[in-house]
Amino acid sequence: MKKVLLHICCAPCSASAVKMISNEYNISFYWYNPNIYDVQEYKNRKDAAIKYAKELNISFFDEKEFSYNYDDWKNKTSEMCNFCYMSRLEKIAVYAQQNKFDYFSTSLLSSPYQKHDLIKQIAGDLADKYKTAFLYIDFRTGFYEGKNSLRKKGYYMQKYCGCNKSLNERLSLHKKKNCK
Ligand code: SF4
Repeated sequence: MKKVLLHICCAPCSASAVKMISNEYNISFYWYNPNIYDVQEYKNRKDAAIKYAKELNISFFDEKEFSYNYDDWKNKTSEMCNFCYMSRLEKIAVYAQQNKFDYFSTSLLSSPYQKHDLIKQIAGDLADKYKTAFLYIDFRTGFYEGKNSLRKKGYYMQKYCGCNKSLNERLSLHKKKNCK
């Protein structure tokens, strides 16, 4: 079986990817998500990802502990998601190349809430840059099924994308709903 290094952004998003490729590829998870704010949220998501890796008996590579730095994000405004995808996927591409994986990919491709085409483009460019291969599959088809299967098992379900800005957007939406 070919080896795939799958960037895991969170357990619920990775369920679809695992289901779609685990019969064909040997998957390893790679955790690198410095976009997650705050430290407790980071821990909740990471613990869930580790638990999922253990449940599936999948190797789990861990790049860093909590490292959210608001200064990295606050000046990025419109191109923030671009920076976010690029900074995460670059680590994965380099690690895949250095550790002789056949491919790298990301569970970000399973969420209908993410900028799918931008992720695909950035990952493809990084594969060219670092002379490795990006496994592109549209994992969105199994997103809700995968997420619900983990919800039923009691896995942690996050309520916002990850950064401080996405948390604030979520909170203001919640506030508006409650004011109606
Ligand atoms: S909204 Fe999500 S993808 Fe965009 S910068 Fe924030 S955490 Fe990253």
